[in-house]
Amino acid sequence: MSRLAQTHGLTDVQREILSTVRDFVDKEIIPVATELEHRDEYPQDIVDGLKELGLFGLMIPEEYGGLGESLLTYALCVEEIARGWMSVSGIINTHFIVAYMLKQHGTQEQKDHFLPRMAAGDIRGAFSMSEPALGSDVSAISSKAVKDGDEYVLNGQKMWLTNGGTSSLVAVLVRSDEGHPEGTAPHKSMTTFLVEKEPGFGEVRPGLTIPGKIDKMGYKGVDTTELIMDGLRIPADRVLGGVTGRGFYQMMDGVEVGRVNVAARGCGVAQRAFELGVQYAQQRHTFGKQIAQHQAIQFKLAEMATKVEAAHAMMVNAARKKDSGERNDLEAGMAKYLASEYCKEVVEDAFRIHGGYGFSKEYEIERLYREAPMLLIGEGTAEIQKMIIGRRLLEEYRFQG
Ligand SMILES: Cc1cc2nc3c(=O)[nH]c(=O)nc-3n(C[C@H](O)[C@H](O)[C@H](O)COP(=O)(O)OP(=O)(O)OC[C@H]3O[C@@H](n4cnc5c(N)ncnc54)[C@H](O)[C@@H]3O)c2cc1C
Repeated sequence: MSRLAQTHGLTDVQREILSTVRDFVDKEIIPVATELEHRDEYPQDIVDGLKELGLFGLMIPEEYGGLGESLLTYALCVEEIARGWMSVSGIINTHFIVAYMLKQHGTQEQKDHFLPRMAAGDIRGAFSMSEPALGSDVSAISSKAVKDGDEYVLNGQKMWLTNGGTSSLVAVLVRSDEGHPEGTAPHKSMTTFLVEKEPGFGEVRPGLTIPGKIDKMGYKGVDTTELIMDGLRIPADRVLGGVTGRGFYQMMDGVEVGRVNVAARGCGVAQRAFELGVQYAQQRHTFGKQIAQHQAIQFKLAEMATKVEAAHAMMVNAARKKDSGERNDLEAGMAKYLASEYCKEVVEDAFRIHGGYGFSKEYEIERLYREAPMLLIGEGTAEIQKMIIGRRLLEEYRFQG
């Protein structure tokens, strides 16, 4: 355990889980991450290892074969994993959001059907809101479901599915006008469908195509895809929760816990960047001394470490708030916003400390430099977080004059 980013008040079980995960990260992820990332290779051995550790079922209740752990435990594990390689935390994140949505909103039959196999990591989840024409403005979704007997017929195109190819269950948000007359508020006419499919690319189920991987600047290894629905038939019992028109709220609930997760990723990547920066600063010499002995570099290290501490504290606070059963949208928005911005800044400072070598693919910081920007966008951009934070603040501090 390092001096930074400590979490007080953990149980013995939480401490044991975290130390096992950190050990796994140090031995199985960090030594291979950069090489796999450069090859854009899916980390199958790492995923198998996480399956064995039970990570895919960490927050799934014990009655369904999971470990029944809290959001805090989950977020702290994600922080450790992202410290090793952010893409691996991305493989778990969408799975976790879909399992969480099923646990919170699924019918009993849906929970019984999916959760035990999700806990074992045999079914893996992806979630899909974004479309080519929208990401932030979810209310503008144009993919549509139309009822036809006991089934719905889905048409439309989705974009940016993390784990779109490797998953076997996708929670897809579409517009469903059935039961919701013309003029119904957009967020009241959306439905989440639980779409089962074969992993892979091409036509993975009649009417459902995953065209291929999107080529990205970073966040490699994990697949990000489009999804095309062309007359895709889904039985009515695969509407999440069994009732149409609730999809927007279900997805927002999932994204809210996802934001804590993205904050945790920012914390993990920033910690690794700090570790790399502080090590390099003691190896490199200029003008007759270690660069760490130049005050300008020490100031950088001081700022980086302060940001690592602050982001960790906010992330832990947001997770604990949710675990206590309270509304945490304000805290999750703040944690996601701050942790992702600080992550980008800490990574850039570590990059600067490396001088020209930071630009070489031989050094790990080069990978982190390409990974950090994703956190500024995923689960809602900085502008969207600030909109959420601002609205909530005005609710809390309403002028009474
Ligand atoms: C690698 C990767 C993985 C992803 N994985 C998933 C996934 O698994 N599932 C999924 O559904 N989506 C996923 N996304 C999509 C992601 O959620 C969206 O990219 C994100 O929400 C932003 O949407 P956009 O790209 O359409 O940008 P836009 O919404 O078009 O925004 C463009 C710019 O305008 C700003 N902006 C927008 N509206 C406002 C406003 N009202 N006020 C001020 N500024 C505004 C934004 O902050 C941004 O700077 C992923 C994206 C990436 C890059």
